[in-house]
Amino acid sequence: MIRAGWLSHGKMVIYPIRNDIDEEGHQLINWVAKIDTPEHLERDCNRRGKLEDFLPAFADWHFDWLDIPALLRNAEVILEFPMVDQDPLPRWSHGRATLLGDAAHPMVPRGSNGAGQSILDAVARAKHRTATSTIEAGLAAYEAERLPATAAIVLQNRANPPDAILRAVFLRTSDKPFKRIEDVISQEELLAITGGYKKVAGYTLEDVARRMA
Ligand SMILES: Cc1cc2nc3c(=O)[nH]c(=O)nc-3n(C[C@H](O)[C@H](O)[C@H](O)COP(=O)(O)OP(=O)(O)OC[C@H]3O[C@@H](n4cnc5c(N)ncnc54)[C@H](O)[C@@H]3O)c2cc1C
Repeated sequence: MIRAGWLSHGKMVIYPIRNDIDEEGHQLINWVAKIDTPEHLERDCNRRGKLEDFLPAFADWHFDWLDIPALLRNAEVILEFPMVDQDPLPRWSHGRATLLGDAAHPMVPRGSNGAGQSILDAVARAKHRTATSTIEAGLAAYEAERLPATAAIVLQNRANPPDAILRAVFLRTSDKPFKRIEDVISQEELLAITGGYKKVAGYTLEDVARRMA
């Protein structure tokens, strides 16, 4: 069984972060509780989170194999990250300096993209560094390739992120349980959402093959 939720009422992602399971079956995990709120929008990623701000949204998330409220209460540490981004910048390079990664294109953290796009920046920067005769020309070519590409993702993440699938399912089911995803959303629609996002983010098979060539 899966329960995902949506941002208006609370969405949760849980994943293991260390491949080290003890004799009692315990493993270190990270959980992310995402929730829409008119507050907590300050651009500060160094704040401690407060349980009372989000626990009520997950108070009835009890499964026979996992007790979410207990999991949240037992966390060693809770951090709070605002779901904010920044309008795409008109330029990244100034003389022999440029921007890369979050400094260049902070994006709403949806679609597991920040680090992935930072790596693609680095690959492009290295490629243009060796293919051009001056540092400035290399930075200009890097920026011409990566600024429009990442600006499109920043804007896409605001309107139609990859987890728009969860939003569609949440709205169509009113968060009620269902047995088959196909009864709620067709394979074609699912592929259209994920395929569309892959194109914008540069993650299609063709994109990957082109980079590997
Ligand atoms: C909870 C969470 C989950 C995430 N999950 C994902 C995911 O699943 N997939 C994904 O792709 N992305 C994910 N991201 C986003 C990803 O972590 C960032 O997009 C990525 O780390 C950006 O890389 P960066 O090198 O640009 O910046 P950073 O990783 O922030 O690196 C910047 C570095 O500069 C250092 N620094 C800052 N100021 C100075 C200074 N004055 N002097 C010297 N050093 C300095 C910082 O200490 C830091 O080490 C997640 C982020 C968070 C917070």
